[in-house]
Amino acid sequence: MSFRDWAHRAADWSADYLERVRSFPVRAQTRPGAIHAALPASPPEAGEPMDAIFADLDRLILPGMTHWQHPRFFAYFPANASPPSVVAEYVTAAMAAQCMLWQTSPAATELEARMMDWLRQMIALPEGFAGVIQDSATSATFAAILTAREKALGGTANAHGLAGGPTLRVYASAQTHSSVDKAVRMAGIGGDNLVKVPTSGSAWGIDVAALERALVEDRAAGRLPCAVVACLGGTSIGACDDIAAVAEVARRHGLYLHVDAAWAGAAMICPEFRHLMRGAEEADSVVFNPHKWLFTNFDCTAHFVRDPAALTGALGLRPAYLRTLGRGEGEVAGVTDYNEWSVPLGRRFRALKLWFVIRSYGVEALRGKIRNHVAWSRELAERLAADPDFEIVTPPVLSLFSFRAVPARLRGAKPAEIDAFNEALLTRVNDDGRIYLTQTVHEGRFVIRFQAGQTETTREDVMMAGDVLRELATEFAATGFRSAEETV
Ligand SMILES: *Cc1c(COP(=O)(O)O)cnc(C)c1O
Repeated sequence: MSFRDWAHRAADWSADYLERVRSFPVRAQTRPGAIHAALPASPPEAGEPMDAIFADLDRLILPGMTHWQHPRFFAYFPANASPPSVVAEYVTAAMAAQCMLWQTSPAATELEARMMDWLRQMIALPEGFAGVIQDSATSATFAAILTAREKALGGTANAHGLAGGPTLRVYASAQTHSSVDKAVRMAGIGGDNLVKVPTSGSAWGIDVAALERALVEDRAAGRLPCAVVACLGGTSIGACDDIAAVAEVARRHGLYLHVDAAWAGAAMICPEFRHLMRGAEEADSVVFNPHKWLFTNFDCTAHFVRDPAALTGALGLRPAYLRTLGRGEGEVAGVTDYNEWSVPLGRRFRALKLWFVIRSYGVEALRGKIRNHVAWSRELAERLAADPDFEIVTPPVLSLFSFRAVPARLRGAKPAEIDAFNEALLTRVNDDGRIYLTQTVHEGRFVIRFQAGQTETTREDVMMAGDVLRELATEFAATGFRSAEETV
């Protein structure tokens, strides 16, 4: 059979998969090591028929998948995809272009610039931000910290290293993502120099007065503050900093301001949620992931920067073998070599899937999907709040909230006991397979997170999560759970 036949088979397989994905347990139900053990220990010397490979895909691989495109995937954050995005990924794979330079595929570069400007308009960032598609928010934040480092040191760290220089300091709230910790480590600033400022208030935003105090103290001690990372929709419970207030401090202290909106940024296409990003227009850079909640296959991270020259100054290199002949040394109008904007040299053609998604849905339909996710999550949170066996721990931020089960038997029990019940209940829920949820620790307590964001999720799916939780919590409290006191 030919490539054409197998490509048709892959398309049919994909369509069948998405049609029956609801019938699978959301989280893989395999035991660790089982799939590894079922795979041949050595590679085949002779080629095998594609039929055999497809058969093993169904037999070995599919049962070991966690189904991120299951409409009842309520764990972590979404990594949603959509038919136009998948189709664009097929054709991207067929062309298999390496889009590191403008001339290695002018259409990829120019479409990327246009798509990033579409996204900028969609989330209402002002003109003056240029964009690049990165492989992950982690990479974008790392690039931001490197840019901030070079800005603070006048470009000397890239040239001479950090040894003997001042102690750089980066600030973020205790709710920011671990990618910020990773970025300061990788940038040579050191994890100890990431100041985790406490949060305050009901949005768990950074305590701006504490930020100010930390800055003043650091300066007095001879350290060099260089960047602040503001959090718009933290991963744990959706914490949101008052970005305008952080921007004011950053401006006054001459700090680079990076906004991490990896998940929540997608919701900024809806005007009614934009109050959360007030002040982001003053940032030096903003990152959000269309590969989370904007119906575009992983990987696709939107990274906006106010000063592209500062970014390419930190990351750009142009060795002889990458020079575009006829370009000379300076910039040629209309030519961008995006590899100079990112950590890896090689780049996939990621803009195409955005083009397919935005054109085929239109922005209003994308808004509609996000609005539904938010409305249904709020409805479920209200339902659980009204149920005496559950309590909402953190209220919905967009489509994310956290809760715990407190069945009658455990009311008045020690917090550790209730936490143990919830941990065991969560395992029970995910083993059941109808829904998939994950946990976090909030203010020292184990809590269960809920978020809705898969492309095909319906209101019924979200309400079913409530039914499953009620059913399993009741059953588990009655029969399955032994508290520590009962087991002694
Ligand atoms: C998911 C997430 C990240 C990391 O995203 P990657 O693209 O996987 O690197 C960073 N920050 C926040 C707030 C996130 O939710």
